Amino acid sequence: MTVEQIQVDTLVVGAGQAGVAMSEHLSKLGVPHLVLERSRVAEAWRSGRWDSLVANGPVWHDRFPGLEFAIEPDAFAAKDQVADYFEAYARKFNAPIRTGVEVRKVQRNVGRPGFTVETSDGVIQANRVVAATGPFQRPVIPPIAPKGTALNQLHSAEYRNPQQLPEGAVLVVGAGSSGVQIADELQRAGRQVYLSVGAHDRPPRSYRNRDFCWWLGVLGEWDAEIAKPGREHVTIAVSGARGGQTIDFRALAQQGITLVGLTQAFDGDRVTFRADLVDNLARGDENYLALLDAADAYIARNGLHLPLEPEARQRLPDPDCVTQPILALDLLAAGVTSIIWATGYAVDFSWLQVDTFTEQGKPLHQRGVSREPGVYFLGLPWLSRRGSSFIWGVWHDAKHVADHIATQRKYQAYSDARQPSATADAPVLNLSSVGAH
Ligand SMILES: Cc1cc2nc3c(=O)[nH]c(=O)nc-3n(C[C@H](O)[C@H](O)[C@H](O)COP(=O)(O)OP(=O)(O)OC[C@H]3O[C@@H](n4cnc5c(N)ncnc54)[C@H](O)[C@@H]3O)c2cc1C
Repeated sequence: MTVEQIQVDTLVVGAGQAGVAMSEHLSKLGVPHLVLERSRVAEAWRSGRWDSLVANGPVWHDRFPGLEFAIEPDAFAAKDQVADYFEAYARKFNAPIRTGVEVRKVQRNVGRPGFTVETSDGVIQANRVVAATGPFQRPVIPPIAPKGTALNQLHSAEYRNPQQLPEGAVLVVGAGSSGVQIADELQRAGRQVYLSVGAHDRPPRSYRNRDFCWWLGVLGEWDAEIAKPGREHVTIAVSGARGGQTIDFRALAQQGITLVGLTQAFDGDRVTFRADLVDNLARGDENYLALLDAADAYIARNGLHLPLEPEARQRLPDPDCVTQPILALDLLAAGVTSIIWATGYAVDFSWLQVDTFTEQGKPLHQRGVSREPGVYFLGLPWLSRRGSSFIWGVWHDAKHVADHIATQRKYQAYSDARQPSATADAPVLNLSSVGAH
């Protein structure tokens, strides 16, 4: 069946967790809508990540309110279990999702309301468009990446497993959640690994019998509306792998990974690193200890009886790679054959040709409500708060966006019908029966 000639009230683009959440809230509010997904539901979880990935948060936390995972609440779901979860969730309320249809262009209509939407399966007219195409759309490899080299280079988005890489040592650039997990997996598979560590936060996996997801929740950190000054571009290093452990860079070094500072430049086979490893580790430690302090204060203030954990404050000695940091490395001599760029992602809204972007292509919006009336964003990092791009957070943002859409529909119903009280969702007050004059 083609989507040609379809007229929809609200078109949701993308059926990842954001699109599914959006559809649930629109359904609850009775807003007619269609979700178009170019691939499959939750495709990013299905095929866009490495084979062994598990969620970074336990399933009691990393889920939507309406459905629990069928595994132990403190467990970390494997990536395919997460994808299965969102498929089941969408089935639960019969979400109107069409898979295998790509949205290629959206333009505002001239002289009449709504948008013309070009898809891989025909043209649609939509009153509103919600862009739920993900926080991580285009893998970013920085311009310093060496060109014309025999080195095997890939982004973390393309990494699947150690067997995929040619024999030899690996340089992993970037030590956020992806970089540390990939470096750890490669080292455990017998590879020699160099891990380039920049600025990072590294909360304890758990402290005093509570996972860090719980701590960030009760301490209000998931709800923070803006990143702390100076920490806007700081990555967060956490992992649910092997039951979930705190990311401790000194422990990774003890295990055999060679830590280096920020990757600075390539010159032929030679790479240089900034002399900032000690500082980066120190700031990561500060972030770690600040969370322990905040947790202790919260426990004291609320009189909670949670077990003490003094060992959480013990620090491993600095390994040689920290006390005598490598500032330059001859990749050929070191046997490095692959570079994995765990350097993050950018968004790509080239298909959304409306007036709500900065010159740099950054979406302009307030809590997902864009500057272009009728266009909405969902799932972007910091859309309304820190939790916005994560599983639990996007559901709440979707509720806000759906409410906004429902309100706009009421304004439109008024001008069409001239009967503001004739909306179906509210009882009508009978003035004569309450004695009004
Ligand atoms: C390695 C990694 C691990 C993560 N782990 C966690 C975690 O443990 N817990 C957590 O809460 N978050 C985690 N996240 C963050 C976040 O939850 C995921 O990135 C999640 O996939 C975002 O969901 P989304 O629906 O916003 O975007 P996506 O999952 O990217 O979904 C967007 C969908 O839109 C579709 N699409 C894009 N363009 C078009 C188009 N033009 N037409 C039609 N369809 C289109 C795509 O095919 C895709 O299915 C992780 C992210 C990464 C990268």
